[in-house]
Amino acid sequence: MKNMKKRFLAVLLVTVSLLSLAGCGKFKCDMCGEEKSGKKHEQTVLGETLTICDDCYETVKGVVDLFK
Ligand SMILES: [Zn+2]
Repeated sequence: MKNMKKRFLAVLLVTVSLLSLAGCGKFKCDMCGEEKSGKKHEQTVLGETLTICDDCYETVKGVVDLFK
C-alpha cells in the first residue's frame, strides 16, 4: 500500500508540475528526480506521461525504441 501512495503522489506531482511549467523553465525530472532547467521532454510510458530531462530522455528513448 505504501507503493500505491507513492505512485499517487508521483502522478500528482507530475500533474502539478505540468500545470505550473507553462511560464517556468524549471521542472523536476521523473527519472532522476533532480530539478532541471534545461530541455524538457514528455514521454508516455505505460499510459503515464513522464516529464524527463535531456539526459534521461536519451536513456528512455533507447528503451522505448526497443519495444517499437
Ligand atoms: Zn533526469
